[in-house]
Amino acid sequence: MSTRIVYADNAATTQLSDTAFDEMTPYFKEFYGNPSAAHSYGAKAKTAVENSRKRIATDLGAQSNELFFTSGGTESDNWALYSALNIPFVKGHHIITTRIEHSAIFRAAKSLEEQGCDITYLPVDRYGQISPAQLAAAIRSDTALVSIMLANNEIGTILPIMDLCNVAHKKHVRFHTDAVQAVGHIPVNVKELGVDMLSISAHKFRGPKGIGALYIKNGCPLPPLLIGGGQEKHKRSGTENVPAIVGMAAALDEAVSNMDRNMNNITIMRDRLIKEVLSSVPDSQLTGDPHHRLPGTASFVFGSLKLAPLVAKLSEVGICASSGSACSSGSTELSRALAESLNTSAPEQYGALRLTLNECNTTEDVDYIVGHLPEVIAKLRTSRFGL
Ligand code: PLP
Repeated sequence: MSTRIVYADNAATTQLSDTAFDEMTPYFKEFYGNPSAAHSYGAKAKTAVENSRKRIATDLGAQSNELFFTSGGTESDNWALYSALNIPFVKGHHIITTRIEHSAIFRAAKSLEEQGCDITYLPVDRYGQISPAQLAAAIRSDTALVSIMLANNEIGTILPIMDLCNVAHKKHVRFHTDAVQAVGHIPVNVKELGVDMLSISAHKFRGPKGIGALYIKNGCPLPPLLIGGGQEKHKRSGTENVPAIVGMAAALDEAVSNMDRNMNNITIMRDRLIKEVLSSVPDSQLTGDPHHRLPGTASFVFGSLKLAPLVAKLSEVGICASSGSACSSGSTELSRALAESLNTSAPEQYGALRLTLNECNTTEDVDYIVGHLPEVIAKLRTSRFGL
């Protein structure tokens, strides 16, 4: 086992930022009041929640009253999608989404299908892209909702959400985007995008785990997902996770104020990683869109090399990478994004090696990865495990 660890799995989760940690710490033991309580401790917690809401809303170009705290990306996605069943003025129960969505949308769509919804799963091109014309052709008179992710968690492709949203709105269809992999990494402004709903998750941008939000544009009616004590304007009941909310706001503020510098540095590291891997590993292929991609995402297929042994061998030399789905790396579920974008039915190609960098990585990390990966792959290719 290596003593050096290079963490290159930042699409799965990130290290909590020091700023977020410091800001959230007092809310565990010192200011532990319930924000709904009518005393000074309650008021302190309530103020922290509302200040955090304001900070996050500002970072996203939203208004404070358009932001609802949830337990993370999965809950936000589920909430947005299930709304299609229940919206008072919907025209029907036809939903359009894509074949490369995260399971929080994809499986929720499957469950809605079982409940009688008609779902169109748009295919993507070899770069993982969907065109506005493709979406326009799929919209029907009974379409209630379109849900298309802003950036893919496996191949890193950034989709043209502003244009896609325009198409949906021209036909008076509501638009949700899963922006979990994008927020904190590339500029995201809800008003510029024009979306009606947008999901975020703090642990993807160096905030704590188990906290996220759903942006719901003013005037976009949405039934509550959780019913109880009436928190979040009766839309999402449950005592607020005050430290996590504070941590999310601190992490997002930090990510947004350092975004230009981080994007620049991370893109330079990612591009070098891609270049060196493609040139030093025979039969290697980059997945996703070569131009419209997340700054930190590099994802490769290596011919018919199996990915699980590769990830295990890399871990032995201290490199934390992943194959398959972003937040369920241990999952045996085959990658829809890869199968779609690589247009292959060969099972061995359903997995890709995903290396995801962020501002915690250094050029030495990239040196270390490119120094070890070719050898690890060469060894696997000559052993029975890689076959
Ligand atoms: N959507 C995308 C694109 C993701 O990558 C993830 C997690 O990897 C989620 C949703 C789920 O977010 P959470 O882990 O906060 O539930």
